[in-house]
Amino acid sequence: MQEKIYVIGHKSPDLDSVAGAISYAQFKNKLEGVNFYVPVVAGIINKETEYVLEKFGFEKPKILKDLKNKKVILVDHNEVSQSADGREGAEIVEVLDHHKVDFKYSELIVFKVLPWGASASIIAHCYFKNNIKINKNLAGLILSAILVDTVITKSPTCTEKDKEIIEKLAEIAEIKDWKEYGMEIFKVRSSVSDLSPKEIIKSDFKDFVFKVGRFGIGQVETVNLEELNSLEDNLLKSLNDLKKSGDYHSIILFITDIIKEGSRFLVASEDASGFEKAFKVKLKNNKVYIDKIISRKKQVIPKLTKIFDK
Ligand code: MG
Ligand code: MG
Ligand code: MG
Repeated sequence: MQEKIYVIGHKSPDLDSVAGAISYAQFKNKLEGVNFYVPVVAGIINKETEYVLEKFGFEKPKILKDLKNKKVILVDHNEVSQSADGREGAEIVEVLDHHKVDFKYSELIVFKVLPWGASASIIAHCYFKNNIKINKNLAGLILSAILVDTVITKSPTCTEKDKEIIEKLAEIAEIKDWKEYGMEIFKVRSSVSDLSPKEIIKSDFKDFVFKVGRFGIGQVETVNLEELNSLEDNLLKSLNDLKKSGDYHSIILFITDIIKEGSRFLVASEDASGFEKAFKVKLKNNKVYIDKIISRKKQVIPKLTKIFDK
């Protein structure tokens, strides 16, 4: 019997990681006429992912905590700090991603990275290019992931290609107004009232290793920034606790208002003035609102890299 090949996204899985694993496993199985590609997730899935899976009739993939001795395809990430544990002992057979590349491996493998707005866009393109049919529910799933990752096309990471694919998928999924549908997902995404500060921080959280040390950067996307005002001090306290317990140089949470298109930053850092320098702002009680900054990948990380990774 052929060994299973697990398709898996990053830790603190977002919709693109989960929908990416499901849709890419299905693509590989169809393309090769096999059934050994299996979607899995690296941790507990978040609310909007659960909402979308249920809406389009998909089961939650199983959690795979340890990649050791497993054959894997990595989707929606390539940096080792973002993979599930045990990656050093895994056999990576392929990578499909849309993030900056920080990757080393001892074997020749298929490595598909495009600077598009979502892994899901690259996967949709694989289906189209190979003439493999995307059914209505799968189109809805893939579309949802693109809408979240591109912040309904508002993010600077969104390309013309993503927009083209969104239109195609919306038609297959029979979603007339994809902007309105995108807002529906973001409303689920921003209802954080039942979460603890730590859960809010960790719901979309990534580690980056810079020369000065480890950074943890979380993002919350909301349709109404004011709703989280009263939580800010508790969030900041949690950031400081996490920083200490996790041996971080800095932990940053930014709360993005997708309507205003700007973000409120909460910063716990060994070097807060470095943060101020990176963004040309002044923190007040370790907090600041920065207009027009909404993308971790395209705006936040490059600015931090310039100061903290040189
Ligand atoms: Mg992701
Ligand atoms: Mg993504
Ligand atoms: Mg995102």
